[in-house]
Amino acid sequence: MACRIIDGKAIAAEITQELKGKVAEFTRRYGSPPLLSVVLVGDDPASHVYVRRKERACGEVGIGFERHHLPAGTSQAELVELVRRLGRRSDVDGILVQLPLPDSISEQAILAEVDPAKDVDGFHPVNAGLLFTGGKGIVPGTPRGILELIRRTGIELQGKEAVVVGRSNIVGKPTAMLLLQENATVTLAHSRTRDLAAVCRRADVLVVAAGRPRLITAEHVKPGAVVIDVGVNRMPDGSLAGDVDFESVKEVAGYLTPVPGGVGPMTIAMLLSNTLEAAAARREAAGS
Ligand code: NAD
Repeated sequence: MACRIIDGKAIAAEITQELKGKVAEFTRRYGSPPLLSVVLVGDDPASHVYVRRKERACGEVGIGFERHHLPAGTSQAELVELVRRLGRRSDVDGILVQLPLPDSISEQAILAEVDPAKDVDGFHPVNAGLLFTGGKGIVPGTPRGILELIRRTGIELQGKEAVVVGRSNIVGKPTAMLLLQENATVTLAHSRTRDLAAVCRRADVLVVAAGRPRLITAEHVKPGAVVIDVGVNRMPDGSLAGDVDFESVKEVAGYLTPVPGGVGPMTIAMLLSNTLEAAAARREAAGS
């Protein structure tokens, strides 16, 4: 069977189109659009690019956007104060603190200050805990995007063997929890896993989020498997490479996501979706 390339860009565009309608309906109903507030500290060029992308994406679907750009020398206390202020503002529906933060600031301490109801990145311990216990919280964009890609491609997860490579709090662990919720049998592999190739070859669905260019080759993949490449690695020649060796793996896999154009566009689409849902939940809770 020829490998089917999963077009994340097209699926994300479809979701964006759907969101446009939902945001317009929200705005008609409540009188103003949802508002996403993004906090950016320092001058990391990649972070600026990501924030601009988020701003553009909000604009496309009609979600309001505001940016708080603080200098690199901002103290942890000042940042805590801003995040708390945004939490108190009734017009702010979503709060996103762009990572990484400068070394002098504890990311964990800041993320814990975000109001869980406005935590559209889903990184607050309350939302992580709700995901773990099967409650209804806000799910981080990348894992949610991965599951949505799989769902919209028509792939059934129940009873399948799923292997996730990478155990970060923002991708690997939440993705494993979502696959478990879909009744897959889940293995979480990481840098200390023995014989990674043998573990990966068990997978009907293989999700790779290790940040190691071309870590996964044909020998890691069971024929016909679904392979989702989350990795984004900047190569010395300036090009982008995934964690999966696309050329060799496409000869073996049944489905494969490209980099770029796979998981990446889904992450932003899910951020928009989280913002709209957080706004709707707050308005409903307020009884307006
Ligand atoms: P991370 O560095 O926090 O975690 C990497 C994980 O990979 C660790 O748990 C580590 O144990 C595991 N790992 C590292 N080397 C390994 C090896 N040789 N074998 C097996 N496991 C190994 O990274 P992260 O934040 O989870 O991101 C992972 C990748 O996904 C990065 O390339 C990142 O840029 C990308 N990413 C993409 C998106 C997107 O929207 N497309 C979003 C988030 C992250």
